[in-house]
Amino acid sequence: MKKGLLIVISGASGTGKGTVCKELLTRETGIAYSVSATSRTPRAGEQDGREYYFRTREEFEQMIAAGAFLEYADVYGNYYGTPLAPIEERRAAGEDILLEIDTQGALNVMERCPDGTFIFLLPPSLEELQRRITGRGTETEESIARRLAAARDEIRLGKRYRYAVLNDTVEAATDRIQTILAAERLRADMDPAQFEL
Ligand code: ADP
Ligand code: 5GP
Repeated sequence: MKKGLLIVISGASGTGKGTVCKELLTRETGIAYSVSATSRTPRAGEQDGREYYFRTREEFEQMIAAGAFLEYADVYGNYYGTPLAPIEERRAAGEDILLEIDTQGALNVMERCPDGTFIFLLPPSLEELQRRITGRGTETEESIARRLAAARDEIRLGKRYRYAVLNDTVEAATDRIQTILAAERLRADMDPAQFEL
């Protein structure tokens, strides 16, 4: 059985990762979304087990100690982590899995899973990034300032990813990601013997 792709989409907060991933999952129903655990409080409309597994800091620390995470990071003062077991199970079953995580987490996954497809999503500009974070209306003034200050450093790390994708419009960004995935799947399936080489 062929192993599924491990797709990692990362980028500064507010770039549009959540929005683009949602569009991608609507277009490609065969991709499973990796639901992370977090110690942050749920936002309006978020459901435990759908957007995140919402856990207390203590519960999260117990999960770290039990080795339950592929990676975890402290992002803006809260824990976020990728549960390991579902990823191994799904990839072994040939299913593609999508991780939407921050840059620290993505760099850790690059170490552990060098065969992953690492995609860095870029905003058109810092000004547009600020408009998007503010426009989302989910953050306090302080949280916006913290996320913007981190964005510059995060964008510098974008160089380490195999792919960079501009999120100018959600449709164009998703098209670009689909092109990357088609190429990665073809590469994984390619059998040189078929061409009598
Ligand atoms: P992230 O998951 O990277 O933090 P979100 O997906 O929550 O970002 O997007 C942040 C805000 O920007 C949201 O209000 C979203 O609707 C908006 N947004 C996302 N992509 C685009 C885009 N291509 N053009 C304009 N607005 C966008
Ligand atoms: P938010 O609080 O806006 O949902 O997410 C804040 C940041 O944490 C985002 O950049 C998001 O991608 C990242 N994040 C979400 N889940 C994980 C995870 O499992 N691991 C890591 N390292 N980052 C995550």
